[in-house]
Amino acid sequence: MMIAAQAKTVDSINPATGAKLESFPLHTEAEIGATLDRAVAAQREWSRRSFADRGALMKRAAGYLRANRPRFALNATREMGKPIGDAEAEVEKCAWACEFYADNAEKFLADEHIASTATDSYIAYQPLGVVLAVMPWNFPYWQVFRFAAPALMAGNAGVLKHASNVTRCALDIEETFRESGFPAGVFSTVIVPGAEVKRLIADDRIAAVTITGSEPAGVSVASESGRALKKHVLELGGSDAFIVLADADIPAAAKTAAKARFQNAGQSCICGKRFIVEDAVYDRFVAAFVEESKAYTIGDPEDRATAMGPLARTDLRDDLVKQIDGSVKKGARVVLGGSAPQGPGAFFEATVLVDVDDTMPVFREETFGPVAAVIRARDAEHAIVLANDSTFGLGGALWTGDVERGKQLARRIETGAVFINGMTASDPRLPFGGVKHSGYGRELSYLGIREFMNIQTVWVGPSK
Ligand code: NAP
Repeated sequence: MMIAAQAKTVDSINPATGAKLESFPLHTEAEIGATLDRAVAAQREWSRRSFADRGALMKRAAGYLRANRPRFALNATREMGKPIGDAEAEVEKCAWACEFYADNAEKFLADEHIASTATDSYIAYQPLGVVLAVMPWNFPYWQVFRFAAPALMAGNAGVLKHASNVTRCALDIEETFRESGFPAGVFSTVIVPGAEVKRLIADDRIAAVTITGSEPAGVSVASESGRALKKHVLELGGSDAFIVLADADIPAAAKTAAKARFQNAGQSCICGKRFIVEDAVYDRFVAAFVEESKAYTIGDPEDRATAMGPLARTDLRDDLVKQIDGSVKKGARVVLGGSAPQGPGAFFEATVLVDVDDTMPVFREETFGPVAAVIRARDAEHAIVLANDSTFGLGGALWTGDVERGKQLARRIETGAVFINGMTASDPRLPFGGVKHSGYGRELSYLGIREFMNIQTVWVGPSK
């Protein structure tokens, strides 16, 4: 594996102020090699430990996260701009995931006996080895823990290549496992740019790969993993539909819709992005949605009163502005927000666009920021057609007063999740992942922990 020899650094910039927070040296080739060697050795020993041993350490990690929540949350807020209360809730959710897998991993990976010609035959789940995790900045703790808690409980080791704008958070996570007593090498961070990921994938010491990120990064990881014949999981983008049918509870739908779009300043793969509303209630929904959206005023993310912080980087805001401008040129109307305030920081107002159609950038592309596209559907059938008219297939919501009909319609929505009368959210107990260009494989639940396992068939004779 070749990493550029000359010393280079990566900077963390506070997106609320534009000020540089810290500068981190990139790891050298020798450092990366040592990390991978340590990971391989540690995984061999770790995989032989009992679930009880591994679970005890994972519970300590949960405690460590809680004990350090104020510091960790502030680091996320400073590096990527989410409001401090949301950052604290994210750290808490990571502790929950650690506890969930500490309590359930053994059950999820228990031998499964299956009758056959054998005296006894069963499936045994064996860890694969060292798993490379390429992660995004939008939930800088949660994205990593939802991979690491199950992977480590299963007996794998993890090597994290985090997004280059959240290196302090990456080091916080490494610290959590180290200080909780995990053996050195079971979880490590490598500080390298995205362009170096393909060399890591090709390295023999890496057994499998998971990425949460954009479609182009996913294509690259899938190609390189394919070339190296390594198992991989892809959690990529989304353009989730939030469907509101004529019989929906409009005030409740509007309130949830605003949260689904504007949480994390719209920077979530499972944000509601395309609000597809039946003609009969379109105007009522738009009026209620705009009112609810006004609550998402922008401000200093370190101030507890702030509902929405800046975007994570100014280039992300520039991309969003292009998508809005392109849609307005084609006839969309801005009924709320639409501009960036004067002054420093990557802020952008909560924005609602109406009269959106299926030709516009805000419909066709993923919008990773606080811009809601509202689309008129003739009826429920048309709403389903519009919802499926996307290259993505991650999550989505469907609001209706008729839950049975909602369940029937949900079967026709081409996504990894449909939330009826709610908004898409991840939960350690439920599988998470997509279809189409949103990727493949699942995280969380018993399905997520089985992704990086050798599903081993054991046959015991004599034959019956
Ligand atoms: P990104 O640019 O794809 O970055 C994600 C990670 O991939 C970072 O660690 C990045 O490293 C790395 N990376 C970039 N280019 C790469 C390449 N060619 N090969 C391998 N790795 C590469 O995405 P982002 O802007 O941080 O995050 C936003 C995207 O992630 C959105 O599309 C969003 O929908 C998606 N996302 C999906 C989920 C999900 O669960 N499905 C969850 C959250 C976000 P550097 O930072 O060093 O470039």
